[in-house]
Amino acid sequence: MDLRLHDTLTREKRAFVPLDPKNVRMYVCGPTVYDFAHIGNARPVIVFDVLFRLLRHLYGEAHVKYVRNITDVDDKINDRAARDFPGLPLNEAIRKVTEETGRQFHADVDALGALRPSVEPRATEHIGEMSEIIEKLVAGGFAYVAEDHVLFSPQAMNAANSELPRYGALSNRSLDEMVAGARVDVAPYKRGNTDFVLWKPSKPGEPSWPSPAGIGAPGRPGWHIECSAMAWKHLGTHFDIHGGGIDLVFPHHENEVAQSCCAFHQSRMANYWMHNGFLQVESEKMSKSLGNFITIRDLLADWPGEVLRLNMLKTHYRSPIDWTLKSLEESGKTLDDWYRVAADVPPGEPAASVIEPLLDDLNTPQTIAALHGLRNASDAAGLAASLRLLGFLSETGAQWEGRKRQASGVDASEIDRLIAERAAARARKDFKESDRIRDELAAKGVVLKDGKDADGKPVTTWELA
Ligand code: AMP
Ligand code: ZN
Repeated sequence: MDLRLHDTLTREKRAFVPLDPKNVRMYVCGPTVYDFAHIGNARPVIVFDVLFRLLRHLYGEAHVKYVRNITDVDDKINDRAARDFPGLPLNEAIRKVTEETGRQFHADVDALGALRPSVEPRATEHIGEMSEIIEKLVAGGFAYVAEDHVLFSPQAMNAANSELPRYGALSNRSLDEMVAGARVDVAPYKRGNTDFVLWKPSKPGEPSWPSPAGIGAPGRPGWHIECSAMAWKHLGTHFDIHGGGIDLVFPHHENEVAQSCCAFHQSRMANYWMHNGFLQVESEKMSKSLGNFITIRDLLADWPGEVLRLNMLKTHYRSPIDWTLKSLEESGKTLDDWYRVAADVPPGEPAASVIEPLLDDLNTPQTIAALHGLRNASDAAGLAASLRLLGFLSETGAQWEGRKRQASGVDASEIDRLIAERAAARARKDFKESDRIRDELAAKGVVLKDGKDADGKPVTTWELA
């Protein structure tokens, strides 16, 4: 059976035919490095790591190139740098933030069993390519300079009589409707209300580079142009797969296609556009204000990375995923069992029953069912090889068991702190939070008992389950 992938642009599953089977090329939008990555950010990392591994299995390790960028120019980075390092010059503070966050990101995704991509380009190292693309777009009449900005005109793109794709095709929107529905308070320097920024002036103290297109003042790139430039530099003008989360389809990917296709006069940027669905936590949108924002780092304090990885892959990548403690616990039990059976046996060949569902647009739930099948058939060698192909069994059985004992080594002062937090939550009638804390402790094997002390005041004691 051949690999079939769902393409967001054509909205169908199609046979995957690489442009060059000796050089299969994939680009995935990476993190903006200003804070710890959350568990939603881990989804594209894990999903496209599975695809990377599958492509390497099919075409050979030397014949797959995976590029995932690091966005290190962004307002959020500047804000964080000013807040965290008020004493430092902004540029130095920004370097501290991006370097430290980049290191944290690597440590986190390594722990999730994700292979490092072939190349991890940084936006700040590709300003030259961004300027080149911008120059081409201005020369071609697709972009214009206004008040030290360079703006891209989707209307100019759709008016061009050529092989270009239609602006809006990827996200299935009509430009006319976008124009009609756009906000009225658009920046005065924009000719059209859907025009987007390729380049803008830097504020004093912000990072800045010599501007393209004859602009005298220094400036900095917009976000979308960064990915067009890095993909071009490392994968060429036209490559096989472009991926990211579903939230990136519009405007980010729509604008990437527009920039790259107009600059290089071509009808396609990538042949397959793949997008993972969103992750929510305990049936709610994850957000800082709701207090259910979970970083990868937090989860790694309680769970081995492979448990998070398995838990992510239980849901098909295009479906929304509901991240729950219950599901994590089940994933933990499953891996304990698989480690017991397969960690220390010499691996055989990955089973066809495991690979076939992967070939069908990465049907990982079906793949996991096949792994359970191997387990039930006592095919330890097949299970071991299949798990390794999918990025599991990075530890020996003894390491896995040892780590579990460590994880359940409870820290009494931490428990007391959580009990106090829970009491405070109950006092303000935030029962959701108090239940959450109780569940968190339960997951560590700590059972709480609510009672009253000699004076009749409520007290909470604990014991190990
Ligand atoms: P960002 O750093 O916000 O640009 O996000 C990096 C990657 O994580 C992008 O591919 C996003 O689409 C993806 N992402 C962000 N939040 C979520 C989420 N809640 N669920 C799934 N993917 C997400
Ligand atoms: Zn991107």
